[in-house]
Amino acid sequence: MNKTKVNFDAISRIKIAHTPTPLESTSRLSDALGCQIFIKRDDCTGLAGGGNKVRKLEYLLADAKNQGADTLITIGGLQSNHARQTAAVAAKFGLRCELVLEDIPGTPKQEYYHNGNVLLNKLFGANIHHMGVGQDSISYSEMLIDKLIQNGQKPYLIPIGGSNVIGSFGYMRCANEIVQQLESHNITIDQIVLASGSAGTQAGLLAGLIAAQIDLPVLGICVSRSTLDQQELVESLLRKILKNRGIDPELAKGKVNCIGDYVGEGYGIVTETMIAAVNQCAQLEGLLLDPVYTGKAMAGLIDLCHQGVIAKGSNQLFLHTGGSQALFAYRDNINLIFKDN
Ligand SMILES: *Cc1c(COP(=O)(O)O)cnc(C)c1O
Repeated sequence: MNKTKVNFDAISRIKIAHTPTPLESTSRLSDALGCQIFIKRDDCTGLAGGGNKVRKLEYLLADAKNQGADTLITIGGLQSNHARQTAAVAAKFGLRCELVLEDIPGTPKQEYYHNGNVLLNKLFGANIHHMGVGQDSISYSEMLIDKLIQNGQKPYLIPIGGSNVIGSFGYMRCANEIVQQLESHNITIDQIVLASGSAGTQAGLLAGLIAAQIDLPVLGICVSRSTLDQQELVESLLRKILKNRGIDPELAKGKVNCIGDYVGEGYGIVTETMIAAVNQCAQLEGLLLDPVYTGKAMAGLIDLCHQGVIAKGSNQLFLHTGGSQALFAYRDNINLIFKDN
């Protein structure tokens, strides 16, 4: 049953992702946490090792093509998963790709510069512009766009994380996919938990749920901001999405739930609980998380279960947004927990 009022056929989209992605239950992780943990496997969206950005790129690529673009430009951290997925989309559709990637202070150095997503970006044939700490990548991108236009190219700028209204349609659509999967598996969940960064995933999901008139809490675990800053970012994007689809933006009120307690020192900087969560999911479920997003989100979920903030016996759906490719960039940090490092 499709409850949503939103007509997705009216929005340009190029199908890329392997969807629906699997919805899995966990046994050993659920036992360890005292809650039933289900995992929505958006790390399995197919292209380039998968991840949540593929769903956003289905809409962003369609818009780029409609505008006659021949080059995709995007911005992110040096180990951005979004950049890797954008580079792969560009390769698949015969577009050029320019990646403006920022160095992140406090991250490991050796592998971070060359391995993980950086290595994959090169394989996909992207042009990498490595920004030093403190360099302004937004104004650099504007300069780059001018230069490309002068060269006769038609660049299309994708914002950080693909998180604008168009990109977020990917997760508005995914909300329907989740609702339908839960119905067909006869599963009731109490909450969706996910890593919240540039906000399009959380805002898109909430927009989809609001459109479908489903009152299901979505908890965004921050990876770069404080609780309030993240809530503000998600809510402002959510309002824009709702407005764009002709839905009352006031319905966003009170829907945005974030928690900023698991960021640690900052975006991309490891925390002990992240490493423990990555290790625990690997050893209990054979499941790979990532050091920047899902590792911190799972660290939050684990802690909230242990604290009893998330009720024992409740059903939680963890949205796995991908990123395990970045594990290799963090070898130095992760390896420290093993005796034979
Ligand atoms: C980008 C990303 C996120 C966060 O999604 P946003 O839409 O930016 O909030 C979460 N997990 C992974 C692995 C990502 O690459």
